Amino acid sequence: MKLEELKKVKLGEYPTPLQEMPHLAAKHGNKIKMWIKRDDTTGPAFGGNKTRKLEYVMADAIDKGCTAMLTYGGPQTNHGRTTVAAAIHCGMKPILVLGGEAPKYLSGNLTLDAMMGTDLYFSSDRDKAAKEVIAKYEAQGDKVYDLPTGGSTMIGAAGYIMAVKEIMDQCEAMDIHPKYLIATVGSLGTFGGLNAGVHYFKAPFKVIGVPVSPGDKVAGAVEFVNKLSDFYDLGFKITADDICVMEGPEDAPYAGEAYNKPDPLTRAAMFELAREEGIISDPTYTGKTLRGFLDMVDKGIIDGDTIFLHTGGAMAVWTKEHLDDMQQELFDNCSITEI
Ligand SMILES: *Cc1c(COP(=O)(O)O)cnc(C)c1O
Repeated sequence: MKLEELKKVKLGEYPTPLQEMPHLAAKHGNKIKMWIKRDDTTGPAFGGNKTRKLEYVMADAIDKGCTAMLTYGGPQTNHGRTTVAAAIHCGMKPILVLGGEAPKYLSGNLTLDAMMGTDLYFSSDRDKAAKEVIAKYEAQGDKVYDLPTGGSTMIGAAGYIMAVKEIMDQCEAMDIHPKYLIATVGSLGTFGGLNAGVHYFKAPFKVIGVPVSPGDKVAGAVEFVNKLSDFYDLGFKITADDICVMEGPEDAPYAGEAYNKPDPLTRAAMFELAREEGIISDPTYTGKTLRGFLDMVDKGIIDGDTIFLHTGGAMAVWTKEHLDDMQQELFDNCSITEI
């Protein structure tokens, strides 16, 4: 398959803004220039990084004649919420199979999933649930597109291969010369796509990844990027030396204790971005990357101008677990006066 021939559906607004963060840079000693690539502004339904992937995924689903779009995630999946909006846009039935028990109260992304009329299924046995759900809709005459968690398929990752070109064009137009692009590492579609894009388009910056959960991500990333190169015939092969994932200090890794586990160090970074630049990040993904970014700047590990990729996710701020955990920090961070 040729990358340039791949079809896509327009779902988001591109190019997303590339903005400077002068106040945050000043707070960290003006050692480097900081930019933020606002992939949190794409839409639809508040968008985020999944939109770039879904533009290609939905075109594939339309090509295959699908009438229903099924995907997976945790109860608060941003990917799920964005996929629902994309499916609606393309006239397909949105279906989510989510982990765990059915909720009694809907908050965060689930509020929006419900508002968009999604068919929601909860199960702790994803594969079994998927089989049942697909069989149910097919019996009704639907053709179901089965999209893996995070939309990180070869087709979905094309979104972030092409994002590298968009960033290179913006840098040229703005006459800026970043040394690094820092991004969150989750299901690898974003980080893998970016790494493939940097090799394919010979970008002048290096990608640094920060993981959202503990554990080695390098081997998986190498495999994913090489698979992308084979799939699109991009003509390169990378090794572990070409992948940079920064895990942070052993006693306080950037990923925190676990995926989606509320973490005060992550929130401190989120609060800082909000106070300095008026930009909202999230406790599960971008906040962890942001904490890693600022820590690496302070320690001189990042020694050149950097673009921080904001992949969205702010909906998580309004989930009960995260709100409960940060109440005191919120009160401490502002002043509230009754007059
Ligand atoms: C899904 C997600 C990521 C991770 O992207 P992957 O392509 O799965 O690695 C990062 N940030 C946010 C806000 C997300 O929703």
